[in-house]
Amino acid sequence: MSETLLTRETISGEKPYEEKIRPQSLKEYKGQSKIKDQLSVFLQAARTRNEPLDHILLYGPPGLGKTTLACVIAYELGVNLKITSGPALERAIDLLIVLKSLKPNDILFIDEIHRLKRPIEEILYPAMEDFVFHRVIQKGLASSAATIQLPHFTLIAATTRAGLIAPPLRDRFGIMFHLDFYLKEELFQILIRTARILGVKAEEAALMEIAARSRGTPRICNRLLKRVRDFATVRQVESISEQIAKESLTALSVDAQGLDDLDRKYLNFLMEKFGGGPVGLETMASALGEDSETLEEICEPYLLQQGFIQRTPRGRMAAKALAGDL
Ligand code: ADP
Repeated sequence: MSETLLTRETISGEKPYEEKIRPQSLKEYKGQSKIKDQLSVFLQAARTRNEPLDHILLYGPPGLGKTTLACVIAYELGVNLKITSGPALERAIDLLIVLKSLKPNDILFIDEIHRLKRPIEEILYPAMEDFVFHRVIQKGLASSAATIQLPHFTLIAATTRAGLIAPPLRDRFGIMFHLDFYLKEELFQILIRTARILGVKAEEAALMEIAARSRGTPRICNRLLKRVRDFATVRQVESISEQIAKESLTALSVDAQGLDDLDRKYLNFLMEKFGGGPVGLETMASALGEDSETLEEICEPYLLQQGFIQRTPRGRMAAKALAGDL
């Protein structure tokens, strides 16, 4: 089990407090109850048969806990987890090195799998299906093929863009989980735990206020708690009150509905510049001076979920009259 800790070192750039905040066990992993219920069965079955879990595809907007869930699964099974990402696997040899480092039943986590290059993706197919790696060895003008046996492992892949995953790759995952935005009460539970770990004192109503403004996203609620704590520190208050939470969040430009500057600008443009739509994503992106991927991956999922906008074949449309709120 101690080797599972390797996981924590491999999450590049992770600060020590982030490492502490990230839940380790399924019990500490809040929300996503449908996923957890199913996963508990699959974990128990894998343990009973002493087999690796089937390959898993996790999809959903950033910050909802895909990497965390991969860590939790490794912890629950007591196996090692190796973390990499689609863009990091540039050459076949990069993939081979990672695959060769795995032990039986280990987990390989590939973040941003939709950014994997097509030739690497094709090498992954036999590795996922038959646990073999077909290597082409070039000697001068001649080439020969070698088949390398791999340990039976589980691939957990994560993506924010399930639509970009090629069907042959998608079909090779036996388990697919779509992570949903969290309820306010679930984020509140996460905040209670984070506040305890960080040693932050806060009224329940203050944590509820932060939860309500966190766009249903654990990463955001943890980040906002830290920023609100900064405001409290500067004001020299020991415990964060609801009032301080509200004032700090407003100062951070996060409104009562959890919308930030970019969301408001998006909705303003949609309503005022484009008369509520329909407007194409690229037109919207250039009007806002933003990257279309940022809009599609980070901004729009929450606006869609909240029913502010609709995606139609003709483009984005406003779904709620918001003029008064913006
Ligand atoms: P993703 O990989 O989907 O972008 P992460 O797994 O990195 O998201 O989650 C971001 C942060 O949010 C984590 O560091 C963790 O602290 C917190 N988090 C995510 N999901 C949960 C959860 N279900 N319960 C508690 N904290 C969570």
